[in-house]
Amino acid sequence: MAFDSKDLKNLVDKVSDTLSEAGRNLSATTKTVIDVTPLTLKLKEKESYLEKQYFELGILYYQDHEKDENPEYEQLARITAIRDEIKEVRSKIAEVRGKETCPSCGEYLEKGHTYCPHCGTKIKV
Ligand SMILES: [Zn+2]
Repeated sequence: MAFDSKDLKNLVDKVSDTLSEAGRNLSATTKTVIDVTPLTLKLKEKESYLEKQYFELGILYYQDHEKDENPEYEQLARITAIRDEIKEVRSKIAEVRGKETCPSCGEYLEKGHTYCPHCGTKIKV
């Protein structure tokens, strides 16, 4: 079986069709990426905003309920416990650096402050 010019033309047409289809698929993919990217960015922005709102609500809830006798959520006790541990570690770091920490806000202070310059809490009697 000989390979003639008609076979060659068929082959070229077939390759050409395949390449065209690949090109169309690629441009469809590119268009999808172009269309989806701003939506994805918008989604990330919205999700980030939502996360920030939950976080802020958590702080507000904690502040309102940290002294509850029978807290509704065990996270309250966990937050209080980790806050105490953080205060302790900050205090140790301050001690090593020759400083002290505010007992209220936990900021590092030079020794000798009567009031915390960050939150106004009285440091020494
Ligand atoms: Zn303070």
